Amino acid sequence: MREGRREECSLPLTGGDPPEKPPPACGRGLGEGMFPLTPRKISFTLRDMNRALLALPLLALALPLHAQEVSPQRLKTDVETLVGFGTRHTMSSPTDPKRGIGAARAWAKAQFAASSAACGQCLTIVTPETTVTGERVPTPTKIVDVVAIQRGTERPNEVVIVAGHIDSRVSDVMNVTADAPGANDDGSGTALVLEAARVLSAHKFPTTIVYAVLSGEEQGLYGGKLLADYAKAQGWTVKAMFNNDIVGNSRGSDGLVDDTHVRVFSEGPRGDGDAALGRAQRAIGGENDSPSRNLSRWLASLTNPAKTGLAVRQVWRADRMGRGGDHLPFEALGYPAVRFSVAVENYDRQHQDLRTEQGRPYGDTVDAMDFAYLAKVTRLNVAGLAALARAPMPPVATVKAAVQTFTDVAWQPVPGAVRYAVWQRATDAPGWPARPVLTTSDTHVTLPGVRGDDWFFGVSAIAADGSMSPVASAVPGGGFGPQQAQH
Ligand SMILES: [Zn+2]
Repeated sequence: MREGRREECSLPLTGGDPPEKPPPACGRGLGEGMFPLTPRKISFTLRDMNRALLALPLLALALPLHAQEVSPQRLKTDVETLVGFGTRHTMSSPTDPKRGIGAARAWAKAQFAASSAACGQCLTIVTPETTVTGERVPTPTKIVDVVAIQRGTERPNEVVIVAGHIDSRVSDVMNVTADAPGANDDGSGTALVLEAARVLSAHKFPTTIVYAVLSGEEQGLYGGKLLADYAKAQGWTVKAMFNNDIVGNSRGSDGLVDDTHVRVFSEGPRGDGDAALGRAQRAIGGENDSPSRNLSRWLASLTNPAKTGLAVRQVWRADRMGRGGDHLPFEALGYPAVRFSVAVENYDRQHQDLRTEQGRPYGDTVDAMDFAYLAKVTRLNVAGLAALARAPMPPVATVKAAVQTFTDVAWQPVPGAVRYAVWQRATDAPGWPARPVLTTSDTHVTLPGVRGDDWFFGVSAIAADGSMSPVASAVPGGGFGPQQAQH
């Protein structure tokens, strides 16, 4: 009889996309206590299932409360102000009060200070700096990041970072003097970061949010590396880094318009992976399950395009072909990171001298931008930051299924989690299903009758308020943290 009951209840064991509500047998068959089929302890109860089913809609409802506060007008005003500094080239004047990167950085810092004043000094502003030379920096130049830290009320060492770069360039990356408006690249990302700080600093979160205005991107991702090194030196547990670079136009250089998608780029093989990890993944998989990739999947599931007018187009490569961004130094240190960028790029309007050729305008100016679109991307960032700042870290999970007809999944407990959700997807399925297999307060489960060879498994952590972390895959290299720390 028990065997039959299990088959009626398709939700917990089969993976794939389960129905919106569990079939009645799921509820009736599985009361409090042990799962009827296995002699091993498994704390799966009806109450657990209800909590799991409730968690996702609650999350979706909670997010727009912050995201709605994003202002397209403020974003436009900020981008115009940034353009007003003439050039923000990394080697432009650090001291001129009106023109150059120094003035721009000072202004950004003042914006953070104003947000902090409005929340009772809830932001700590730091300005990590380093002096670099390199292929695109012939003389020693100071790189300064402007960073506001909103410390979490419960686990301040857990951080989620949102970043954009304030420096700009024209056709010749070494041209320090020409006007380089950088409205979209990356005035858009900088304005997004400042707006996220304004909106989210009005709320409290158990974990920390870091708002970062980076420098030196165009000269070689120096500001991103500076902040990644800073995060490591602080001993931060980095849950995620959102790099926003070119996020404010909806018309491509060929006239193609798309204001309903944002691209999210994520690496496959981990930037900090070594030969041993490569061998392990070659043997049992995991090359499509890096923490950055799971962050991308999670972001795609976060937005409801029917309501927000914006869907995530996941791009499963680290960045655009032949190009880079400030998320890469984070991934190189093993921190989960993604790049947000527009659906269609306008190549006439980035990295170009201001000019008109045969009636065609070139240059990164405000008139080529779409601030309603930038506001949508900002709302998605704000929603993602708020959700991550409430959620626990995804647990580091392992799976045991070799030469057996059942699968054991186990994970390390994480601070702030009251429950865990266990996920299962076919090895050739691109994403996790809409619902977990089960939730439990335990730190291991046995899935009877599940031949693990045919599936990937993952675990997410759930806070007391229902906030759920992204899924961490139970594969080699699947943990949300540097590889070294997981040995
Ligand atoms: Zn850029």
